[in-house]
Amino acid sequence: MVEETFKYAATPDDDATATAAWNDIQTCREVYNHALTQEYRPRSAGDKPSYTELQNKLTGESGWKERWPEWQTVYSKCLQMAVRRIKQSESVLESLQDRGYKVGQLKWKKPDEFRSICYNQSGFDVDSNTGRTDHACVNFSKIGDFHINYHRPLPANADITQIILKKEKTGSWSVCIVVDYDPGYPEKPPVEDIEVEDTVGIDLGITKFIHDSNNHSFESLDEQRDRERIDRRHRDLSRKEYGSNNWENARQALARAYERLDNRREDYREKLAHEYTTRYDAVFLEDLDVKSMTEGNGNSRNVAAMSWRQTIQAFNRHGKKNKCHVIEVPPEGTTKRCSQCGCSTQKPLWVREHSCPACGFEGDRDYNAALEIKRLGLEKLGVETNTKAVGQGMAKSTPAETALPGETEATADDVSPKRVVETGSPCLTERTASAVSE
Ligand SMILES: [Zn+2]
Repeated sequence: MVEETFKYAATPDDDATATAAWNDIQTCREVYNHALTQEYRPRSAGDKPSYTELQNKLTGESGWKERWPEWQTVYSKCLQMAVRRIKQSESVLESLQDRGYKVGQLKWKKPDEFRSICYNQSGFDVDSNTGRTDHACVNFSKIGDFHINYHRPLPANADITQIILKKEKTGSWSVCIVVDYDPGYPEKPPVEDIEVEDTVGIDLGITKFIHDSNNHSFESLDEQRDRERIDRRHRDLSRKEYGSNNWENARQALARAYERLDNRREDYREKLAHEYTTRYDAVFLEDLDVKSMTEGNGNSRNVAAMSWRQTIQAFNRHGKKNKCHVIEVPPEGTTKRCSQCGCSTQKPLWVREHSCPACGFEGDRDYNAALEIKRLGLEKLGVETNTKAVGQGMAKSTPAETALPGETEATADDVSPKRVVETGSPCLTERTASAVSE
């Protein structure tokens, strides 16, 4: 069984439903804030209340719902879930801290910082037999009906565990349906049947998003126009009177600009993950929790680390569907070690060429890293290979030094940027095409 979330655009049945939903969300926020500031935060680190302890405060004599009767208008499970959020957020902060990020403490939430309500196990009903195409109706207990754009049906054997109703910053509504189901993924090819040339190593970077062991590369998405749009809308917003209608419109326009950039990034990741996992039996990537600590600095590092993490997740997801092994290898030393002879050479980040003093192999720094990632990946997966032959075989097929990845003669099996653009997946658009490097 796997857990998957399906997200849909939603429309409230009428204005009263929209109002009821927003009111209930805000009640959840009050409960969250109350639990956080009155119960959770005052207690010392070793003595934090458990989830059950917090939840029990809601009910019973002199419980919160007794003291504030207006809280009773919300479906009771939703209030429990609001309280549970404290623990969830806390564990997110902890895991960030474990990975070396600086984190603050949980904050009291303002109305626009708390935008969703969570129905867990009960209190909802999904009706997809409405007689209309791409349409389903979700009933939320004590709120009412929301119509959803049911463009992607839930799996037939899905068990709905949770539904989250959210008012996005753009002002539109969305419904996330979390399901457990048996996806019936196809079997991946057995390791002993995998040929070395049907595998690929991938180096993820900041300016070049991907450089692979066949010496093909993909630039990072060109975000300049999105950035300009976002800057422009930030300026628009700053000129409006805070809280006015014009201000609200400008704020929503800004939120849409951010959303658009997010969507483009996601689209790009998904397409790359699809291409690689359909073309190869195994894809090797670096374990980036570690890599993000060692390369770059400050904000650009955080942004890159985030997009690498999401990219790896996309590869893992597509790998399951497309019968492709996706293996993460430790990144230490991959840029320094020579992929041909294993000799380590110190090179600072700005040295883009790899030139081995021991064996004379020369090539792009990232290409050398990708080859090294492939070698480590084959080792980890257990594919029988002669290390030397792997390296030499790949080096031979590549005019190193001067040739750009796109100029390499591509065979049918190669994932060349050109091929992605020309033959691409059916959903590949012009927009993405222009972002792919040649
Ligand atoms: Zn060497």
